[in-house]
Order: sequence, then structure tokens, then C-alpha cells
Amino acid sequence: MSSSPTMPKKSPPGYQPEYAIMKELKRSRELFLDARRYLPGGVDSPVRAFKAVGGTPPFIARGRGSKIYDVDGNEFIDYVCSWGPLILGHTHPQVVEALKQAVERGTSFGAPTELEITLARMVCTAMPSIEMVRFVNSGTEATMTALRLARAFTGRDKIAKFAGCYHGHADVLLAKAGSGVVTLGLPDSPGIPASYAQDTLVVPYNDAHAVEGLFQRYPEQIAAVIVEPVAANMGVVPPRPGFLASLRKLTAGSGSLLIFDEVITGFRIAYGGAQAIYDIAPDLTCLGKVIGGGLPVGAYGGRREIMEMIAPAGPVYQAGTLSGNPLAMTAGIETLKVLGQPGAYQQLEDRAAALEKGIAEAVARAGVPAQISRAGSLLTVFFTAGPVVDYESAKQADTAMFTRFFQRLLSGGIYWPPSQFEAAFVSLAHSDEDIELTVKASQTALGSLKPAA
Ligand SMILES: *Cc1c(COP(=O)(O)O)cnc(C)c1O
Repeated sequence: MSSSPTMPKKSPPGYQPEYAIMKELKRSRELFLDARRYLPGGVDSPVRAFKAVGGTPPFIARGRGSKIYDVDGNEFIDYVCSWGPLILGHTHPQVVEALKQAVERGTSFGAPTELEITLARMVCTAMPSIEMVRFVNSGTEATMTALRLARAFTGRDKIAKFAGCYHGHADVLLAKAGSGVVTLGLPDSPGIPASYAQDTLVVPYNDAHAVEGLFQRYPEQIAAVIVEPVAANMGVVPPRPGFLASLRKLTAGSGSLLIFDEVITGFRIAYGGAQAIYDIAPDLTCLGKVIGGGLPVGAYGGRREIMEMIAPAGPVYQAGTLSGNPLAMTAGIETLKVLGQPGAYQQLEDRAAALEKGIAEAVARAGVPAQISRAGSLLTVFFTAGPVVDYESAKQADTAMFTRFFQRLLSGGIYWPPSQFEAAFVSLAHSDEDIELTVKASQTALGSLKPAA
């Protein structure tokens, strides 16, 4: 197995090939080889290549409810759920039926449709801070444009973001922190001129004092503070009590906009998103994932006077050939309809809480240094003893131990996110039995891990 041509040259630390053999991945191995001939890394989005955990990513043939099935006939209980959009599970009958009917009427017109108003009204009703919304095709587009809009509205150039928060791959947002509390943004990827990122200021998550410091150091220069109100792209890291309220106060006090990136949390941790739970009204909100119901949709919205600066109402340009297309709108509308039914979020909470409890017990029994971070149906098992409150503490996690955990889960039929720094997603399709099976598999997986010496 280790000499297989599909294996990465250098195995990640802690990687044990025998656990990657699991069941039959024969066809997936062939496809991965073929894929890498035509697609960089064999994939269209990096995390899918399993680089952090090694081994062959199963190629998926179909999904139903909480399960996915690979090309070799393996069945997995899925906790990736397309990285968040599939909060109803795979191929939800109501979504599928509506899509079938929509596709017969036409996939895109490049002209207005009533469906766009329907979904816009649902979004504005769910999140009162959003008076107007613009649909785009991805979360990246949403955050990119929200920043352009914030800069236009305030006439300022600088943007503040938090280390470990991911806002898509727009040039100005692919900046990370160096060391120190207040750091000028450095590009996180080749191909981004340093000048593009120099107006991006990066501070630690959950550190309102650092943000205060930024406003003192750059008075009247910061257009916006953008934040994941519950961070979920360094693993799940909830905000400390008062953190979001401080951001609201600091931005309002200095004429800067507060942008909530709720691409993951919107319609996920509550119907009204994190802003409903923490009772904070941001100036702009970015959405994606769940609102597309599994089709490519992003959105940004907020206060009317800001949104009316967007073309054609105003001078800030943003457009999209397929934006608001009928298929995407239909999947979003049907998904939100199901989520709007009484009890939906209670069920998500109950199932995710049961999963958390089961894994926590297994962690305690195994004596492994790990802790579980959960916000609603988002959950991360961090393999570290210390509390995780920001990117620095998240990075203390033992990724080698995570890798062993992941591989043992996978071979036990559990498709967990293939990286320590991602959230697992529980859907409405996950049954009590799914949760029980997952807890059992995690008991086995954790029981076989040796605590770091
Ligand atoms: C996924 C994500 C994005 C980017 O969305 P894409 O549709 O992948 O471009 C932006 N912000 C957050 C918080 C996300 O989780």
C-alpha cells in the first residue's frame, strides 16, 4: 500500500497505511490516479485530496440521507455533508422534486425571476439586519464584494480580520497573521502581490483588545471588521462572551462596518444564524452553503443605505452571469422551507449534543488529551489538552493523533472531515442510530490511540 502510486510521497506524521486499506478502495485508487492526470491534485478543492490525513479519498458515487456511497460500494455515515450545505442530508425528496420541476422550466435566463424575490424575502425575514440582499454564486464572491462595498461606503481602505477565520479565497482575504498581536497582513499564497494584502490587518480571534488597538493605531482608516461570529474554519471556536458585542461597539464608535461572515453559521446554528443567537446586528452579512441547499449560491446583504450602493442601484460594480439562477434559488427555497418547520433546530441540537456526549465519554475513557468544541450542529474534536480559543491554541492540536482517529473512523464507515481544523456537520438526516454507530466507532478509534508521550 505504501508503494502505491496514489500515495503522497511523504506520509503525514502518524499516518499508518494499514488503516487506510479499510475496505475496497480499488476503483477510487484508479480514479484518483486518473484524476491527477487532468485536475491539479486530482480535485477541484484542496481538502478533498485527503492531503492532511493521507491515503486515497473515496470517490463518491451517490448520497442518500445521512449516507454516502463510494464507487467501490462502501457506505459511510457522512459528517462532511458537502462542507455544510446539505443540512437536510443528501437528496432530500422535497429538494429533489422541486429541482426536477425547475429544470424542466429552464436552468437560467439571465433575466429576473420571481424565485429570487422569494428567497430574498426568506433571508430578510430570517435575519432582520438584512434589509436587502444580492445573490452570487459562492461564499468567496459574497465576502469579496462585501469588502468592496464596505470600502466604497466608508471611503476607507483597511480591513481587519482574525487569524484562523476563513472568508473564501479572494486576494485581500488570503492573509494570515505573523507573530505578535497586531500584524500587517502577509499574503497567504503565491500569486498575491504584497500590496494587495497590505491593507488587511490580522488580529487573534476572541481578542477585542487587539481590535481596539487597531482602531487606535489606524484611526478613520478601517473600512470594516470581518469575522466568523462562530469560527468554524480552524475547527469550531465559539466567541467568548462579549467578544461580538465589543466588535459591534468598536466598529460603530469609529465609523467602520461590522461584517458577519455567516457562510457556515447562517441557517446552520439557528435559522437566523449566529446574529440571532448572540443578538448582534451587523452592518453586512455574508451567506452561502445552506442557503444554496447543495447548489452554488452565496449572498451578501445588510442595511438598505449600504446595499443601495450596489449596481445598478448605485455605483459599486458586481455582476454574475448565473447569479440567482432558478435551480440554485429553488434548492435554497426548499431547504429553508424544511428548516423553518417547528422542531428542526431542536432536532439538530439534540443529535449533535448526543454525538458530543458520546465522544466526550469515549475521550474520557481512552484517557486521550482531547476536547470537543460544538456550536449547534457544528463540532470539532481537538486533540489538545488546553482550551481552544483562537488560531494559536487550535494549532497546538496533535494532528498525527487526529490522523489516526480519522483513519480508524473511515475504516469503521464514518466519513469524518479529513482535517483537524474543520467542523463536522450534523444534518437533519442523521438518525439516533447513526449517532450511536458513530459513537461506537469513535470509542474504538479513541481506544486505540496512545496519548502523546
Ligand atoms: C466556505 C466559506 C467561505 C467560502 O465559500 P465558498 O462558497 O467556498 O467560496 C467563506 N466564508 C466562510 C465562513 C466559509 O465557511
